[in-house]
Amino acid sequence: MAARAEALGQGLTGGFGTRTIRLGVTGLSRAGKTVFITQLVANLLERGRMPGLRAAAEGRILAAFLQPQPDDTVPRFDFESHLAALTGPDPHWPEGTRAVSELRLSLRIAPSGLLAGLGGERRVNLDIVDYPGEWLLDLGLMEKDFAQWSGEVLTRIAARAEAAGYLDALRTIDPAAPFEETQAKALAGHYASYLRAAKAAGYSDCGPGRFLLPGELEGSPVLTFAPLPRPDRVVRGSTWHEMARRFEAYKAKVVRPFFRDHFARIDRQVVLVDVLGAIHVGPRAVEDLRGAMEAVLSAFRPGRPGWLSALLGGRRVERILFAATKADHLHHAQHARMTRFLAGLLRSARDRADFAGAETAAMAIAALRATVEESHARGGEVVDCVRGRLLDGGREAALFPGELPESPAAMLAEAHGGAESWLDADYAVMAFAPARLSLRAGEGPPHIRLDRAAEFLFGDLL
Ligand code: GDP
Repeated sequence: MAARAEALGQGLTGGFGTRTIRLGVTGLSRAGKTVFITQLVANLLERGRMPGLRAAAEGRILAAFLQPQPDDTVPRFDFESHLAALTGPDPHWPEGTRAVSELRLSLRIAPSGLLAGLGGERRVNLDIVDYPGEWLLDLGLMEKDFAQWSGEVLTRIAARAEAAGYLDALRTIDPAAPFEETQAKALAGHYASYLRAAKAAGYSDCGPGRFLLPGELEGSPVLTFAPLPRPDRVVRGSTWHEMARRFEAYKAKVVRPFFRDHFARIDRQVVLVDVLGAIHVGPRAVEDLRGAMEAVLSAFRPGRPGWLSALLGGRRVERILFAATKADHLHHAQHARMTRFLAGLLRSARDRADFAGAETAAMAIAALRATVEESHARGGEVVDCVRGRLLDGGREAALFPGELPESPAAMLAEAHGGAESWLDADYAVMAFAPARLSLRAGEGPPHIRLDRAAEFLFGDLL
C-alpha cells in the first residue's frame, strides 16, 4: 500500500506551495500511540474510511505518500512493520513506543471553495512525532533539586507495596559513605524495578521517564541514580553527592535536550489517554492518572517555567486533542459518557489556565476497531455488548465491560462511600486481538472517530 502511494507522489515536489505541520503524538506507555499513528497514516494513505476529515470527504486529497523525514538523526517510525502486524494474516498488536520517532506523510491537496478557481494544488507535509508521555512528566523535575525530588518520591512511595524491595535496599546503604559504582547500579536497578511494578499496578507517576524507557541511555551514569534520604552532612565524593550530580546531569543532558529538540517544534498535539484502563483498576489509578495528566499538561500552559518559554521562543502549540483510546471496548451508547469522563479528568487542569491560546477538544476514539457491537438478552434485560477475538486462544466472545462512572468526582465520592468498582463485568477478560481484515482497495482498517480526530488536528490546513 505504502509503496504504491509513494510511487504516486514521485516527481511532484515543485510547482506549488508547501506547508509543513509537526504533529506530536504522546500519552503514557500503552495509551495507544503506536496503533494511533499506524492507523492514522494507513487511513490517510487509503482515505476510504475518513468521512469526518473534510478534505477527504470532498475528494481534495489527491495523493498521500510517505517521504524521507527531515530529521536525519531521529529514528523513523516503523510504519510498515506495525501495519503488517495489525493487518497481516495473523493480526497482532505491534510493540509500543519506547522512544521518540518520526514519520513524514505528504499530502497533495486540491484547493477548496472560492479558492478553487484561483490557485493550484498545494502540498502539506505532516511530520508525525511520536514520544513517550513519561518524558513530558520529567518537566516536573526541572524545578527541583535532588534533595527535594528525593524527599517527595520517598514520601510518595513509603506506603506502596511495590516499593518494598527498593526501600529494603535503601536501608542497607549510607548516603554519606563514599560513592561506589556497583552499589549505585544495584540501587538504581531496584528503583527501576519498583517503577515497572508501579506501572503494572496502574500508577502513572513512574518517573524519571527514562528509567522505564531508557533507549540508548541504558546503563549510563545519567540513569544510575535513585532517591535517597538526605544525610545530616553532605560530603564530597559521597553517594548522596554523586547521585545529586547525576540527577542534575539527567536534567541538563536528557530532559532539556528533549524539550529543545522535539517538544519545542510541535504545532499540533494529540494526547492519548487510556481512561478505561485506569477506571478498571479503580479510583486510586484514576486519581493518579489525573495527577499525571495535570503534570503532562503543564508543559502546554502559559505558566510554564521560564527556561521552557525561552526554548519555545514565542512558538506555541495551536491545537491539542485529548483522546480517550480503545473506545471499541464499549458499545457506542457509552461513548458520550467516556468523553465526558475524560473532560472531567482534565477539568482541573483546564480550569486553572487555558493552554496559552491553544484550541482544545476531547473525544473518545478507537484507532483500530477490534470489535463489533451486539445486543444480548441477559436475565430479562438487553445488554449492549461488543464482540471480538480474544488474544488468549483466539476464541470469539461477546462481552459487556460494565458501567462507566458518570465522572471522576462521582467515582471518588462513591468510592469513599464504600461503593464497589466500575467496568467490573467482563472488562478484565476483554483483551481483544485485532480483527482479521479483508480490506477493499482504497479502504483503511476500521476505527472509531479517527477521521474526526484528524479533522480537529489538521483539517483546517488541508
Ligand atoms: P503505546 O505504548 O502508547 O505506543 O501503545 P500501543 O499503541 O502499543 O497500544 C498499547 C496496547 O493498547 C495495544 O497493544 C493494544 O492492546 C491496545 N490498543 C491500542 N489501541 C487500541 C484500539 O484502538 N483498540 C483496542 N481494542 N486496543 C487498542
